[in-house]
Amino acid sequence: MRSPTHFILILFLVSLFGNVLFLQAQAKRKDIGKLVFERSCFDVIHYDIEVKIKPTEKFISGSNAIEFKMLEASTKIQLDYAKSMNLDSAEYLGKPIAFKRKGNIVLFDFPGGLLKNSSHNLLLYFSGKPLEAKLAPWDGGFVWRKDNNGYDWVGLACEGLGASAWLPCKDHWSDEAEGADITLIVPNDLTGVSNGKLIEEKLIDSAYKAFHWRVVNPINNYNISINVGHYINIKDTFSGVNVVPLSYYVLDYNKASAERHFLQVHGMLDAFEHFFGQYPFKDDSYKLVETPYWGMEHQSCIAYGNNYKNNVFGFDFIVIHESGHEWFGNSITASDAADMWLHESFTTYAEALYMEYRVDKTRAIEYLSEQKKKIVSKYPMQGPRGVFYHGRTDSDIYYKGTWMLHTMRNILNNDSLWFACLKEMNTVYFHKIVSTEEIVQYFNSKTSYNWDLFFNQYLYKSSIPELEIKQTVLKNGKIIYSMRLESDVKDLNIPLNIKLPNGQTINVVVSDKSVVLELDTRFDLYAFIEANYLLRIERE
Ligand SMILES: [Zn+2]
Repeated sequence: MRSPTHFILILFLVSLFGNVLFLQAQAKRKDIGKLVFERSCFDVIHYDIEVKIKPTEKFISGSNAIEFKMLEASTKIQLDYAKSMNLDSAEYLGKPIAFKRKGNIVLFDFPGGLLKNSSHNLLLYFSGKPLEAKLAPWDGGFVWRKDNNGYDWVGLACEGLGASAWLPCKDHWSDEAEGADITLIVPNDLTGVSNGKLIEEKLIDSAYKAFHWRVVNPINNYNISINVGHYINIKDTFSGVNVVPLSYYVLDYNKASAERHFLQVHGMLDAFEHFFGQYPFKDDSYKLVETPYWGMEHQSCIAYGNNYKNNVFGFDFIVIHESGHEWFGNSITASDAADMWLHESFTTYAEALYMEYRVDKTRAIEYLSEQKKKIVSKYPMQGPRGVFYHGRTDSDIYYKGTWMLHTMRNILNNDSLWFACLKEMNTVYFHKIVSTEEIVQYFNSKTSYNWDLFFNQYLYKSSIPELEIKQTVLKNGKIIYSMRLESDVKDLNIPLNIKLPNGQTINVVVSDKSVVLELDTRFDLYAFIEANYLLRIERE
């Protein structure tokens, strides 16, 4: 058996390697980061995708009918497609239309102009050998694998790479199609699984079968999912705020494990509906699909590859984390990948809340303490916009993010208000695209507390504020603490709400001016701050 240190080292190397690949992918696709007028002048309404997958050749071919509406009049629009793929032809109004390719960009000219508010359809035919993932889900691309019985098993993960790595589309987080039809044509001994509900399954010829899936809610490009395998389907139902169909596509030989293991989906949905409100995609169902890589939050079609294992806290990380993204990432979506902390921080925090709901707050704090060890604080969580920036420079948008939110809860010191904020956020921004600024403004107005300096520090600076504490033990058994906050953001102050064992709370605001506090020696102030605030304690 591997020792835990080996395991940690492997995890570290995997994450390091993943991040290097991520940065490479980002650099390659920088040209599609900017939201130029040719992209912002239109809004994608619908994608109708048909794609044939040939696993033996690692080849795909198909079409995408894009319905879009002009937000401004224009004679040009820009779509995106990886230069390594073929854009075979395009049709507009039933006739071929010319296009220009420039790197990963595809430009269409409409000499007569497209009027504001007019709607249009472009039909694009594509083919090629899409980029193969080196280390999915971090680097992205297709994963071509064989299952234990020798059947082809195909997956796709392209969050960091962008869907235009395989599909011609408008590849920017600020624009989601309002719905999509996805038809997967796969070898006829296999099943093709995508997002939403299965509408139709039919034989195409002696070798291929088509699976037509429909999504009736807005969907991010990178969530559009392709899964092909020798699957069997397990059905279940969740009765929560609404009745939600549950559906699991797993490799046939894992049926018994999946039936047992996925029972925890009920407890997860129950916990997340408690904190964040209704499961956001009831009309598209909730699905888990077994994948040849670890996991990904593909909307209503979550990629699951964690081998039916729970962590030491008794839950399956992939089931809980990736499902949390249905609320934060899929329903509430960041407008630019630079604001991706909105997806990961809230979802990682949801894991701790899941612990609080299923066990208790003490266990949640223990879980958070484990997360805290992974904070790097080398880069700010908020990235630059318009450059296809992807916030996974390190893992701070996860672990520093969850601690930023936990700290906010303790600053606010009003759990009913804090949880009302989290729940209402999911109503106010249900199926919406948001920016960091909007969310900062949301918390300012909902809590009547100004979080501007706090977010400036925790999102836009890499450092963690330092709390210098000087202690003097008195003869009467008390300790005098003199505390001073040192931070990169001028005038930042942090209210500490210190809860004593007798039920009393002492409120003290730490800032760059020294503040003094007198406490009983039996109270461990350091442990209290460690458990509730993201501050670097400097004992003098
Ligand atoms: Zn995530």
